Amino acid sequence: MATQQPVILLVEDESAQREVICYNLEAEGFRVVVAEDGEKGLLLASEEMPDLILLDWMLPKVSGIEVCRRLKSRSETRAIPIVMLSARSEEIDRVRGLETGADDYMVKPYSVLELMARLRAQLRRTRPSTVGERLNFDDIMLDSTEHRVYRSGMAVPLGPTEFRLLTTLMEKPGRVWSREQLLDRVWGRDIYVDTRTIDVHVGRLRKALMKSGGEDPIRTVRGAGYSLG
Ligand code: CA
Repeated sequence: MATQQPVILLVEDESAQREVICYNLEAEGFRVVVAEDGEKGLLLASEEMPDLILLDWMLPKVSGIEVCRRLKSRSETRAIPIVMLSARSEEIDRVRGLETGADDYMVKPYSVLELMARLRAQLRRTRPSTVGERLNFDDIMLDSTEHRVYRSGMAVPLGPTEFRLLTTLMEKPGRVWSREQLLDRVWGRDIYVDTRTIDVHVGRLRKALMKSGGEDPIRTVRGAGYSLG
């Protein structure tokens, strides 16, 4: 069963750099997927749908700039934050000038501590639950560190799947999620689950949230999927 452990795609051709970054990311509880060149980076970005991409500027096959440009022009990968890594500050100036859409930039040699801080700042914006932020929606509060949910101050006991489902919905209130998107996010891409299973878990989540009163916060969007609020 997949977890909500955040996934970082690292696209870097220098093995020494890869090792250092991988070691530090894994120590911080991230799952790391590695690509040694730009072509593989593009492929893995689509396959894995990572929560963030660390992208080296100088790469074999397809350059980091080109990888960034392509990912930011595709609707399914556009929202993934990209932190560009570069050997020289002049290159970073060029990245800024080129408007490739990168979300942040680091010049090598960078401090690993600073890299982690920048990365967390990006995740806080896009996937707040992965960096231990509390999520709030109306009278519902989700504490991702303690793995607890409260409604109007009352604890709501949830199974692990319902918890992940609610986390996903609460990170983007108002967004309509298709069943396939929820499958990818909650169960993971490498597992086969019938889309009707989602309906069962949404049903359980609704029941748990409404147990001590309160309206149903989950909206069924006919022909589209589910949304919070
Ligand atoms: Ca390189």
